Amino acid sequence: MKACVIRGARQLSVETYPDPSPGAGEVVIAFGAGGICGSDLHYYKDGGVGDFKLREPMILGHEVAGTVVTIGSGVTKVSTGDRVAVNPSRTCGVCAQCRDGRSNLCSEVRFFGSAARFPHVSGGFSEFIVAAESQCVPFGPSMSFRTAACSEPLAVALHAVEKAGRSLVGTRVLICGAGPIGLLVALAARFAGAMEIVVTDLAQQALDAAHANFGVDFALNVRDDADKIASFGAGTGTFDVAFEASGSAAALNTCLSVVRPGGRIVQVGMFAPGPVNNLTIGRLISREIELVGTFRFHGEFEKAVRLLERRRILVDPLLTASAPLSAAPDAFELALDRSRSLKVSLLPD
Ligand code: ZN
Repeated sequence: MKACVIRGARQLSVETYPDPSPGAGEVVIAFGAGGICGSDLHYYKDGGVGDFKLREPMILGHEVAGTVVTIGSGVTKVSTGDRVAVNPSRTCGVCAQCRDGRSNLCSEVRFFGSAARFPHVSGGFSEFIVAAESQCVPFGPSMSFRTAACSEPLAVALHAVEKAGRSLVGTRVLICGAGPIGLLVALAARFAGAMEIVVTDLAQQALDAAHANFGVDFALNVRDDADKIASFGAGTGTFDVAFEASGSAAALNTCLSVVRPGGRIVQVGMFAPGPVNNLTIGRLISREIELVGTFRFHGEFEKAVRLLERRRILVDPLLTASAPLSAAPDAFELALDRSRSLKVSLLPD
């Protein structure tokens, strides 16, 4: 089979790998579509993401959907021919976090296309994908594979909204970062009842898209609209909840200055490795602002599949470009250029 393999920074190629076969409780899925994610781009640009550095060649990709073509022994819940969205998270089910209902924090998780463990866990950008039956969520013929592959990032956004820790009905929400995750958080917050949504970024094309297609009330450029953004901090602050989805200390400081007393900041974006410097966290105390992290998702994956299948949340404006799997290197270059694309999908050749 063909597979999209990363060997180091800017070393991405389409290589021939042996066709996989399923173990007990596993299935083989024929690639239907895959979304290129920010973390895939980090592996491509930097040879790693956060603290996880590539130590061996790895098949990339964790936003995938396809058709079950072979089932292993003991598989009962999916059948050959099923169209499935693949949850990239294979959790252990027995660690303290899994037993506590927080399997997104599983200490033994095997996550598709991740160098967190060694040997690395293969991702889904290949003609055939092996997954546990429990990772597969079947869906009907009305949803495209490309849309189904958005279940994973939408689940990230739904979990982030959950971490707001309160109903968003009638709230004012700030989202720093208009990348795919920030835009999906905007869709999820709107779906959850937010009254007003403000998005900030530096990339004007992404901001224009946020305003035109993602239900965002104000899309503000951090450079050109600095005064407007600062004005949200007047008085006792404007926003009930802020989602920091850019991984920038400056953006987190903005959140700290514009969230109202008793509000909450949800940190969605990954910071660069090492200490995060120059944070003005004094307001956590005087305003009792809560700052929480959000990481991946658990029960939200299946919900994301259903919300997309029923078109309750529309991700079509996010899917701005596609390329065949064999052109993955060009597709990654396109995905890196925020002036030209939001999310780039890989499709079968
Ligand atoms: Zn676990």
